[in-house]
Amino acid sequence: MSTLRFRVVEKAFQAHPKEVACPAERPQEYFARRVFNREKMFKYLPTAVYARLTDAIDHGAALDREIADQVAEGMKRWATELGVTHYTHWFQPLTEGTAEKHDSFIEPDGKGGVIEEFSGKLLVQQEPDASSFPNGGIRNTFEARGYSAWDPSSPVFAVDDTLCIPTVFIAYTGESLDYKAPLLKALRAVDKAATEVCRYFDPEVKKVVAYLGWEQEYFLVDEGLYAARPDLLLTGRTLMGHEASKNQQLEDHYFASIPTRVAAFMRDLEIQALELGIPVKTRHNEVAPGQFEVAPVFEECNLAVDHNMLLMSLMRRVARAHGFRVLLHEKPFKGVNGSGKHNNWSLGTDTGVLLMAPGKTAEENLRFITFVVNTLMAVYRHNGLLKASIMSATNAHRLGANEAPPAIISSFLGEQLSRVLDHMEDSSVDKLLALGGKHGMKLDIPRIPELLIDNTDRNRTSPFAFTGNRFEFRAVGSEANCASAMTALNTAMAEQLADFKQEVDALIARGEPKISALLTVIRKYIRECKPVRFDGNGYSDEWKEEALRRGLDCETSCPVIFDQYLTPESIRMFESTGVMTRKELEARNEVKWETYTKKIQIEARVLGDLVMNHVVPVATAYQSRLVDNVYKLKSIFPAEEAEGLTKENLSLIRQIAGHTSYIKEHVDAMVEARKVANRIAGEREKAVAYHDTIAPMLDRIRYHIDKLELIVDDRMWTLPKYRELLFIR
Ligand code: ADP
Ligand code: MG
Repeated sequence: MSTLRFRVVEKAFQAHPKEVACPAERPQEYFARRVFNREKMFKYLPTAVYARLTDAIDHGAALDREIADQVAEGMKRWATELGVTHYTHWFQPLTEGTAEKHDSFIEPDGKGGVIEEFSGKLLVQQEPDASSFPNGGIRNTFEARGYSAWDPSSPVFAVDDTLCIPTVFIAYTGESLDYKAPLLKALRAVDKAATEVCRYFDPEVKKVVAYLGWEQEYFLVDEGLYAARPDLLLTGRTLMGHEASKNQQLEDHYFASIPTRVAAFMRDLEIQALELGIPVKTRHNEVAPGQFEVAPVFEECNLAVDHNMLLMSLMRRVARAHGFRVLLHEKPFKGVNGSGKHNNWSLGTDTGVLLMAPGKTAEENLRFITFVVNTLMAVYRHNGLLKASIMSATNAHRLGANEAPPAIISSFLGEQLSRVLDHMEDSSVDKLLALGGKHGMKLDIPRIPELLIDNTDRNRTSPFAFTGNRFEFRAVGSEANCASAMTALNTAMAEQLADFKQEVDALIARGEPKISALLTVIRKYIRECKPVRFDGNGYSDEWKEEALRRGLDCETSCPVIFDQYLTPESIRMFESTGVMTRKELEARNEVKWETYTKKIQIEARVLGDLVMNHVVPVATAYQSRLVDNVYKLKSIFPAEEAEGLTKENLSLIRQIAGHTSYIKEHVDAMVEARKVANRIAGEREKAVAYHDTIAPMLDRIRYHIDKLELIVDDRMWTLPKYRELLFIR
């Protein structure tokens, strides 16, 4: 009898919500308590230093050593008041997590004691061992130097006793080794290109900011049940498990009232997130049982990315304090929805205009259309790359698997906006432009109803949907660092806007009036980017055929999709915008392929172990009980009667034998296939081999394990089942 499983299930049933003390204060009082934001900078820094630091944050001005020393001193003073004793450079290597190495403030005072010190040098730069992080061959171990360098645009914060300093992580030779450095470059590029385009409409615009509002989906499972599932523990997903008879069919979980135990977790998480300055706002049950969502108010993109990374690590900690484990994997359970992280993205000016929002006047709407159409062009030109930017071994389970977005990037605009673009395409520039109006222009662009801002017209199957004042990139994985998608998207937009400006300027130089030049190029783009516009059902097979005809990227193999980073168009895009060099792109792809291989390799090993240690022994034990029963029946009943009585059991014995021998054979075959793949030298080819030969075996073996789970006596089955894992009481 499987005592462990029953013990943990019983405990999970009895688990009561942990009490979360409701703070006496209101959120506005504890919001950002643990963040060295402007308010604290002002309080803890001399006025001149404050001015220099904010100038560095807002305009990228350099900070000299003396100023850095004073900033560090102010930070330390603030932090020690919170009980902080250590500091760390907090960075985002090419793994899914963040990295930190803590040092304390103490230094010997020369008199046998210690004092606490923190200098500008330590704040600004450190030298972690770059070779210990994935780097795709850029750093060899014998020259392992990598630098982490302070990113003043994301504020320093305190977690427990540690002051965390957001940093970029770069090689001694200047290449980016992390997610943040290319993101900052992409944001700079889109700022520059978008500002120039904005000046066609308003010469006062000096800066354009990219915004990101992410929606984080996740599962919670009871900690005890989680611990009894080695596959969850080691791979983040269940490699086996028959679907529960009831899962999400009744659609009774989505937006339902939140279970008390989960609500306590959420409340605790929110309080801690708010203290760290993460403006969490929304929480609800998601579609699958055991699945939930948390979303903040959107922020400047770099900060939003940091906040998402910080929130994910906070979720892991807080979940444990409540007897849960949080699953951020994109597909922890077969047969129910997976988890994504919608990236709501837009651009806004320093003059307070959201560029993806329709306006009230013809001029405002022309600007709106300019940015929407350029976004569509960017997504069209780089649809394969954008897919690569969100692809991973884990997200591959979602994309194309008849849920969330398909593995084809297209854009949904909704009826109203589509109609506006169609109208612009069909009318001549002369008709659109009736000269002699108020500002020398009057546009025949139908006034876009303000209603559009509150657009409820939704298409859940679209990977890149317009939603009123922003685009929602829905294909991003729940576990991913948003920086990957945001770097690709903002870079594509930067390149596109620069090309747009060049074309418009060329027409203006030939004497065409500005508005007419803008309209000419926009109309050309509307025609050109048409293949990427799709408002229909993204899950249908017809769409796959249609998308192929339209020339969109329809590749579904994860390692092959990564090739998109190395096409001439992608390299040109990243290099012309100064975001990444070919060398960096190549190195990153090596990391992507290697990571893919390792993930599948680990899954294959874990499945092999589970099969040999759990599944086959249990199935065999049950089978021998059935055999026993057959013998006994035969010994007490006359032969003819015994034949009838043992028929069922004999059939079960045969079924078990069939499944177990299939499983054993295929696990052996999987080991052999791994040996073959492991001998392949190139990372790309090795990943392709893992994708083509080993990954499909995991599914085939699972099929037979899940059949056994249905047959074998429930009391003997050692691993917690879906019906136990998925329903939180
Ligand atoms: P949904 O209805 O798609 O589930 P919400 O309305 O809750 O989502 O918003 C999702 C996210 O989009 C939130 O983080 C929100 O702040 C963000 N968001 C709203 N407007 C913008 C914008 N203009 N740019 C970027 N993000 C935005
Ligand atoms: Mg959304």
